[in-house]
Amino acid sequence: MNQNRRVTVKVDDLVKRYRELVAVDHLSLEIYENEIFGLLGPNGSGKSTLINSILALLKFEQGEVEIFGKKMSPTEYDLKQQIGLVPQEPAVYQELTVYENIDYFCGLYIKDKVHKKNLVEQAIEFVGLNDFVKFHPPKLSGGLLRRLNLACGIAHQPKLIFLDEPTVAVDPQSRNRILEGIKELRAQGSTIIYTTHYMEEVEILCDRLAIMDKGNILVSGTSEEIISMSSLEESIDLEIYDLSEEFLQDLKRNSEFSHVNYHEGKLTLQTKQDGKGLLGILHLLEENDIEPISVSSKKPTLNDVFLEITGKDLKDNA
Ligand code: ADP
Ligand code: MG
Repeated sequence: MNQNRRVTVKVDDLVKRYRELVAVDHLSLEIYENEIFGLLGPNGSGKSTLINSILALLKFEQGEVEIFGKKMSPTEYDLKQQIGLVPQEPAVYQELTVYENIDYFCGLYIKDKVHKKNLVEQAIEFVGLNDFVKFHPPKLSGGLLRRLNLACGIAHQPKLIFLDEPTVAVDPQSRNRILEGIKELRAQGSTIIYTTHYMEEVEILCDRLAIMDKGNILVSGTSEEIISMSSLEESIDLEIYDLSEEFLQDLKRNSEFSHVNYHEGKLTLQTKQDGKGLLGILHLLEENDIEPISVSSKKPTLNDVFLEITGKDLKDNA
């Protein structure tokens, strides 16, 4: 399936060092046209360095970057025209108003005055800053400032958009506005690369993702693919009165299940993701005329996978 998709960004064997520190370590990556691609990793894993290297804002030691099939370099102005960056630290002019800031950034790419005005107004509408156009950035809350940062990065309606942790420390209303905005940008045909250390955002927003740690991509794919690639098992808890010793021993011998335990009316076990899972155990119970009082199952989450492969819990990072 993937062979048929157009590759919008191709990173090949990229290495970026800050003196002796290797911030991006022989990293390769492909991002497909019109997807929301999530780069998920804890602070310091190299997300911003990777993005800034892809955009030729940082010099790197080794590797190649292609965007829309062309080699990226600091002087590729045609390519830059089609790219938007929303940097991690809001980069706006304090002395310009909200309107003037968006107008300025849009004007870097769009020369036609009427067209520019139209785009600026659309961007203001898009991030919901209509009531704040005359405000200066120091008067804006953190969330509104992030929305302004977003508007400045996307006003010229680029085909490829990089968003570096756009929702860090924003109020829930602004966060939802930003997340909805990102989905809308995809619906309008853009390709979006999105970095975050918030697991839930990646799960609801991204078509595919890569888990980064220490300058490397550890796994990539859809969140379902990543979870099913891991060796983590689904945990099942059942409440059952009077389970016979014979049935319990059968379960323990059954290769579908592991960690089978029965104690004070509670049966707990684990089952591999590629097996019959919960249905398997329910079927066995039915065959043996055993009715559970309650059943619950917990499938591994992206956070569990992240914890398994990096030894770090992303929730500690949030
Ligand atoms: P992330 O965006 O995932 O938080 P960064 O790309 O900012 O990660 O940082 C990756 C690593 O590079 C970290 O160890 C960080 O301390 C280091 N680093 C980032 N920027 C610089 C810099 N300008 N000079 C030296 N080290 C840096
Ligand atoms: Mg960063």
